Amino acid sequence: FRNLQNVDPEVYGALQKEIDRQNTNIELIASENFVSEAVMEAMGSQFTNKYAEGYPGKRYYGGCENVDVVESLAIERLKKIFGAEHANVQPHSGSSANMGVYLAALEHGDKVMGLDLSQGGHLTHGSPVNISGIYFNFVPYGVRKEDDLIDYDEVLEIAKRERPKLIIAGATAYPRAIDFKRFREIADEVGALLMVDMAHIAGLVAAGLHQNPCEYADFVTSTTHKTLRGPRGGIILCKEKYAKMINKAIFPGLQGGPLEHVIAAKAVCFKEALEEGFNDYQKQVVANAKRLGEELVKRGFKLVSGGTDNHLILIDLRNKNMTGKEAEKRLDEAYITVNKNTVPFDPESPFVTSGIRIGTPAMTTRGMKEDQMVVIAEAMKLVIDDNEIEKASEMVKELTAQFPLYKRL
Ligand code: PLP
Repeated sequence: FRNLQNVDPEVYGALQKEIDRQNTNIELIASENFVSEAVMEAMGSQFTNKYAEGYPGKRYYGGCENVDVVESLAIERLKKIFGAEHANVQPHSGSSANMGVYLAALEHGDKVMGLDLSQGGHLTHGSPVNISGIYFNFVPYGVRKEDDLIDYDEVLEIAKRERPKLIIAGATAYPRAIDFKRFREIADEVGALLMVDMAHIAGLVAAGLHQNPCEYADFVTSTTHKTLRGPRGGIILCKEKYAKMINKAIFPGLQGGPLEHVIAAKAVCFKEALEEGFNDYQKQVVANAKRLGEELVKRGFKLVSGGTDNHLILIDLRNKNMTGKEAEKRLDEAYITVNKNTVPFDPESPFVTSGIRIGTPAMTTRGMKEDQMVVIAEAMKLVIDDNEIEKASEMVKELTAQFPLYKRL
């Protein structure tokens, strides 16, 4: 990065520090991952210079022959991964992908059902401060108090009462498998459309480790940067009959020029996802989460729903007499990065919370396996139970040194 160093030493300096931070910290944020150097090269490429409003073969600008190649590759690979009839790879983010579906399928004020935000839903699933909640009439469904699982009977009951136009399945903090087939049955019973936001679990779905929502949903949205391990961005998959309306909603409905450098990086990510080894990686992500959960339970941590089926774990800290905010801060001091998160029926505000959300995609990419999960659980216990920040930091240092990540550039 000699040019960057010369032109902008301040940005360069922050970047070097960020590379160091990523190397030296245990990254447990469930929505993060580490992309390959190939993905980063595509993202930092000359494709950033190109305007390409429109879609491959039908652009509003000249000179699109090369971006057409990468966008078509991204589309074809993505369809292959998920067995989808149509793919749009232009959404700038997961939020934009969701907005694309809303713009395509809904009218201002329409009724939509989504998982309650305080129980695992995403901001774009109807938060009153998000455009989804401002423009549409969201009715939440939740999880059962006894076992923290989605109560499908209650979803059906609410759907029968409210008659929503669209039902959203998918979550940002739900540690268990979601039954998309059941959601389809519920949607059919009340004549609603079904959208699945698989952002968190897309990598697991790609590897066949979770029910594939493309078999059941009218629309499937996702980010590309979580378990799927691509650049930051969004995608929409749908049946062919919705292809036109989805494409129109993204461009010209919501966006102008697509980020072709990011689309190039998405194409690389999708190639990686089709390669041998990707499924093994996802299997290890799930195995690591399972083991980390078990080791935490052994150390007296209470897990929402008692465990995990996927890549993430939600820890309820109320028995530890510590808020999520405090735990996040303390773990950070020991170079363990997590995020505070509400737990179902949380008495604390979203700024404080009673829980933390952790996940294994990033550490698994570094090559860590079950044995390392035991060390991470022990380090977390030392921080939260014993306030032994120093001791935990030493363990983190030793562990991260064994699994090098990126080199300084
Ligand atoms: N949908 C879900 C389920 C998410 O968890 C997230 C991000 O955390 C998003 C959508 C939004 O993605 P982005 O941050 O790219 O807008």
